[in-house]
Amino acid sequence: MSRHVIVTGASRGIGSAITEHFIELGDNVAALSRSGDAPSGCAASFAVDVADSSAVNDAVKAAVAEFGPVEVLVANAGITHDGLAMRMSDDQWREVLSVNLDGAFYTARAAMASMVRARLGSIIFISSVSPFIGNPGQTNYSAAKAGLVGLARSLAKEVASRSVTVNVVAPGLIDTDMTSSLGDASDALAAMIPLGHMGQPADIAGVVGFLASNLARYITGAVIPVDGGLAMGL
Ligand code: NAP
Repeated sequence: MSRHVIVTGASRGIGSAITEHFIELGDNVAALSRSGDAPSGCAASFAVDVADSSAVNDAVKAAVAEFGPVEVLVANAGITHDGLAMRMSDDQWREVLSVNLDGAFYTARAAMASMVRARLGSIIFISSVSPFIGNPGQTNYSAAKAGLVGLARSLAKEVASRSVTVNVVAPGLIDTDMTSSLGDASDALAAMIPLGHMGQPADIAGVVGFLASNLARYITGAVIPVDGGLAMGL
């Protein structure tokens, strides 16, 4: 039976691979992104800035009206705006926190009501290994991605009695637009990965698909690194 799945940041990279994974399974995917672009086969797409809580509420409400209760939410939309802390502007700090952390909270809050009523659902936050290994130049991003772990674990306990699970996937270095600007630095980072190479968006999509499946129904509050061993011991 096809599920109602919402994916944020579905237009490109990891979000696009996650979306395609659910489409292949026959699910109804409502895709959210800034541009409104989405992989073909999506049931619906919305141009939404996840940092705008009322726009998120409107999009989720429209999706629920069309496809029924949300069964899977993947809060994946994210940005970086790197710089050393000493020179980081207020805007640079706030923008990264707003999209990566506030945006994830707004989408989870909007989707949760229908899950709790249906006593069924899976929320998956896409974090990063960055807060676990520490990345110079990414204090804003690491703080936001660490925040997702606290958000997920507290939320997991709030909704566990309603059979809603909440988990975190922490990707390592994945080959997307976000990492393409790294140039030679990405080779240096890849050399630190025990498996010896960057991951592909499909590597994340497979784990997200598992967490959203019945096979993972007894997993909640977990943080799962998908990183070729980069943050071993996370
Ligand atoms: P990406 O290729 O840069 O794609 C980012 C996606 O997020 C796009 O769909 C973009 O939409 C959307 N987005 C950005 N800001 C948004 C906003 N304000 N409102 C709605 N959508 C917004 O990035 P990616 O590498 O696939 O990363 C996906 C997630 O994985 C992010 O949370 C990222 O932090 C995390 N992650 C990535 C890596 C990596 O190595 N790539 C590692 C660890 C964690 P538009 O196309 O409309 O702009």
